[in-house]
Amino acid sequence: MNRLKPRDVLNPMIEARASKIQDPVAKLRFLKSTDKRVGQVETVLSRPQYWWLRNRKFWLALGFLLMIPVLSLYRSTARPELAVPASPTAGPKPFREAPLEKVWLVDTKSGVESWSNGLRVETRFTTANRPREYFVWNRNQPSSSLTQLPERKPAGIVFHTTESTLEELEEQKLRRLKLLGESLLQYVNKEKAYHYVIDRFGRVFRIVQESDAANHAGKSTWADGKWAYIGLNDSFLAISFETQTAPGDAAPIISEAQVSSGRMLTRMLRARYGIAAENCVTHAQVSINPSNFQIGYHTDWAGNFPFEAMGLPDNYTLPLASLHLFGFNYDGTFFGNRRPHVEGCSQQ
Ligand SMILES: [Zn+2]
Repeated sequence: MNRLKPRDVLNPMIEARASKIQDPVAKLRFLKSTDKRVGQVETVLSRPQYWWLRNRKFWLALGFLLMIPVLSLYRSTARPELAVPASPTAGPKPFREAPLEKVWLVDTKSGVESWSNGLRVETRFTTANRPREYFVWNRNQPSSSLTQLPERKPAGIVFHTTESTLEELEEQKLRRLKLLGESLLQYVNKEKAYHYVIDRFGRVFRIVQESDAANHAGKSTWADGKWAYIGLNDSFLAISFETQTAPGDAAPIISEAQVSSGRMLTRMLRARYGIAAENCVTHAQVSINPSNFQIGYHTDWAGNFPFEAMGLPDNYTLPLASLHLFGFNYDGTFFGNRRPHVEGCSQQ
């Protein structure tokens, strides 16, 4: 019953070919010749040594045996693709922010505030400026002011560099390091330039009191998911690191002490005022030049700001409000990790 006869396979092929022959004599000759050949094939296959050619079970078993190595090869190559969810380089790491714990003032002694998260703030250079007062715009309708009364609570933080004169951070240079630091603090105090300066040793100085605006951002814009901000001197707080970018450097260099203090200060301000992570950005991201309608008039922290070390997501990935909401433009150098022009950001 399982025997495979040569005629079972050959007859349909022979008939199909014969049907195409129009001349009946030629067709008969063809059928006779093939009948003879099929008979020869049957004679050969009837010999015992060719039993495997006419045995269907043999071919089924052979097919099954051949499938085993093929299947195992497929499984060994397919499993890693199924087991590994995604390549680590497939995209940016999702940022999971820890809940913002409350930070409170522990005490103030000899002009130094101690905060519950370890932050220490020196107040001897603190000064007043005009009280903070600003309006916000619905980001989907930038032409209409939405708030009837001015806002007084800071909505964000802008990170700066002082671009002031530096000395090597070595013990032998301590006297000059202190001299440069003191003169910087006196200068920014006079200019009411920032709310905070973090010096070379990681010490935090409050300059303009938090209830007031500071002259830090110049002409600037930003937008979060809901609101658009224009002129961030009033709406955003300013933290500036005592550092500068040397020609050819991709970004300013700050010490571990400055990073650590910057993180604690950012945490304290965000917890105190409920500042969203997306509103913690660098000066280069918000600066504009209305005279040529280009972004990046001030270029401090145009690249490599340590967002992660500050407990923040990589906000360089956020779209710039100046470009997509207000129609500003940019030149190619801005995104090449180069700094088209570097100047102290407190001078605008
Ligand atoms: Zn700046």
